[in-house]
Amino acid sequence: MRLGIISALAEEQHGLIEALESPYKLVHGMREYTGGKLWEIDAVCVLSRIGKVAAAMTASILVEKFGVTHIVFTGVAGSGDKNVKVGDIVVAEELVQHDFDASPLFPQFEIPLTGLSRFATDTGLTEQLAAAAAQTTRVHRGMIASGDQFIGKLAQIQALKAALPDLLAVEMEGAAVAQVCFELGIPFAVIRTISDNANDDAAVDFMHFIKTVASRYAFDVIERFCREHVRSV
Ligand code: SAH
Repeated sequence: MRLGIISALAEEQHGLIEALESPYKLVHGMREYTGGKLWEIDAVCVLSRIGKVAAAMTASILVEKFGVTHIVFTGVAGSGDKNVKVGDIVVAEELVQHDFDASPLFPQFEIPLTGLSRFATDTGLTEQLAAAAAQTTRVHRGMIASGDQFIGKLAQIQALKAALPDLLAVEMEGAAVAQVCFELGIPFAVIRTISDNANDDAAVDFMHFIKTVASRYAFDVIERFCREHVRSV
């Protein structure tokens, strides 16, 4: 196994790069890839930057240039459900590109020529991440939607929830990584700590959260995931 670990922002991957043993660095396509051993796991960490294209490009390079065999995306997200609170973790079971709409040629949300509007995560990785996260905070599992929009207006999140009633969280990268991994046959998982409620307070809550809690959570969960994973194989 070679594990690719992607986050959009530096705070979401805080401490992981320093934890890599025998690190090597390579800059490619405006991103810095750092490889090494992460608690016995052969890993490559990278910041994708924000949005679906940025995330898709980064996931593709991880597979094609760095030979990763599995991908985990770790970051923060807005809540998409009243039971999902700031500080909770959502582990994706499936991901939707909420801003994709080629109707009437294809149903809304369907990615043309895949026949799919939802991409499923790898059950094994998802199980292990959820177990690792459950030791830190409350964990939900289900659908995450991604789009090239920061959802920061109550009307926006309400409209999304009406269109996708099983929505648990909104973010800007996960579903793009999901499509790339589906097309390349790479098992992947997405884990998100809730930083805001995707409503009118979202921008302020997001900025506060990212500076305080986000980094700590990601580090603890990934450490536990790596240690347990090694034990399980
Ligand atoms: N002002 C920030 C922009 C961050 S965009 C900056 O300058 O760095 C928000 C990031 O966190 C994205 O990577 C997205 O995946 C996630 N995210 C958190 N809350 C979100 C929300 N309410 N809507 C969409 N994405 C959100």
